[in-house]
Amino acid sequence: MAVTMEKIVSLCKRRGFIFQSSEIYGKLNACYDYGPLGVELKRNVKETWWRAMVYENENIVGLDAAILMHPKVWEASGHVEGFHDPLVDCKNCKQRFREDEIDPEKLAKRQCPVCGAKDALTEPRQFNLMFKTHMGPVEETASQIYLRPETAQGIYVNYKNVMDSSRLKIPFGIAQIGKAFRNEITPGNFLFRTREFEQMEMQYFVKPGEDEEVFEHWKARRMAWYESIGIRKEKLRFHQHGKDELAHYAKKAFDIQYEYPIGWKELEGIHNRTDFDLSRHQEYSGKDMTYFDDVSRERYLPYIIETSAGCDRTLLTVLVDAYDEEQLEKETRTVLRLDPKLAPVKAAVFPLVNRDGMPEIARKITEDLKKEYIVFYDESGAVGRRYRRQDEAGTPFCITVDSQTLQDDTVTIRERDSMKQDRMAMNGLSIELKKRICKSE
Ligand code: ATP
Repeated sequence: MAVTMEKIVSLCKRRGFIFQSSEIYGKLNACYDYGPLGVELKRNVKETWWRAMVYENENIVGLDAAILMHPKVWEASGHVEGFHDPLVDCKNCKQRFREDEIDPEKLAKRQCPVCGAKDALTEPRQFNLMFKTHMGPVEETASQIYLRPETAQGIYVNYKNVMDSSRLKIPFGIAQIGKAFRNEITPGNFLFRTREFEQMEMQYFVKPGEDEEVFEHWKARRMAWYESIGIRKEKLRFHQHGKDELAHYAKKAFDIQYEYPIGWKELEGIHNRTDFDLSRHQEYSGKDMTYFDDVSRERYLPYIIETSAGCDRTLLTVLVDAYDEEQLEKETRTVLRLDPKLAPVKAAVFPLVNRDGMPEIARKITEDLKKEYIVFYDESGAVGRRYRRQDEAGTPFCITVDSQTLQDDTVTIRERDSMKQDRMAMNGLSIELKKRICKSE
């Protein structure tokens, strides 16, 4: 079974994971809205990341900086001057491209990758990817500001605030999840490249000289995290940035790549940013950004190791990786084999039929389980159809009340992936669910 982006898009709409933004107005390109199941999945992705990065590390703390920042920040970071993509137009078919994404052979002939016309591409224009807006009531006199293109800068400018108020000593990290905006020239492939997205970033401040070892540590930890949320190992790999790919601020960079239906692409970047960011902020703000190490009595600008993941891109990865079409005897079953800890709904509860008191018992089970888990009650249609709907939603467990329940207070619990059903006592459900969800941790 080959999973395609179209299949994922269609499932996401059908089951209420993700919708195109402003669809009734003909859509807003490269922006997406999360529906009832999508929002739960996204919360679970973020929660799992936050736990792995903040709660499980004594020396990593959280931050939630504003999206709007002082315009000087983006001068210091290099984004005003350098956050450009080379934009070329085809004079024949009028399509636009990023020059660095065109096949080199075609580019040499200035040939359009879509219509094939030769000598048709314009010279590249540098296009800044930051969204501009104005702060203040009168546009002409108001100051121009930007929607942040990355969350990292909010961490750098706050590093001393966080360190001093939390009594942290180097090495330590600051983690943040938040929106970022980029006016991408070639967005597309669903959530892969959008113009508004969320990042999950952690910036780790270290003593120069200890950076390389810390880099290796986080590289391994981040890869392990993707495996811990159930992504198949063989679909993940590292890609080291060559000299031509390396950002101006980076000493070393690795991407974690995933094999999407569109090929191997970046999912997360791990960068050794050296003291570039802090030295630039020191220069532009005139504030001292150095750290005084009271053990070695040294003063220095810390190096920064960054782990920068896309939340929406992780979600896309999780969906692509979990999607399966299983051939059964008489039909094809579409199933999202999501890790139970990420699944939007943990269990669905069904009365086998709508009589003999079964709905009442099923509702009671739902009410009890709701205190601990997101559960979903469903009594509509044939039970087989109800199972299929939950398979598509990635719900790991379905609990069914049947005629035997009326006699001995037992129910069946069906496991999504194997479709295996076990019969068990109704009053042990909560513990059983916990056991089965935790097994994936
Ligand atoms: P590219 O070169 O593909 O434009 P990048 O290398 O500039 O991306 P980073 O700035 O390192 O990307 O961003 C870190 C992470 O943020 C990426 O690994 C990705 O998961 C996510 N990300 C970046 N741009 C987008 C986007 N337009 N849409 C969705 N996620 C994005």
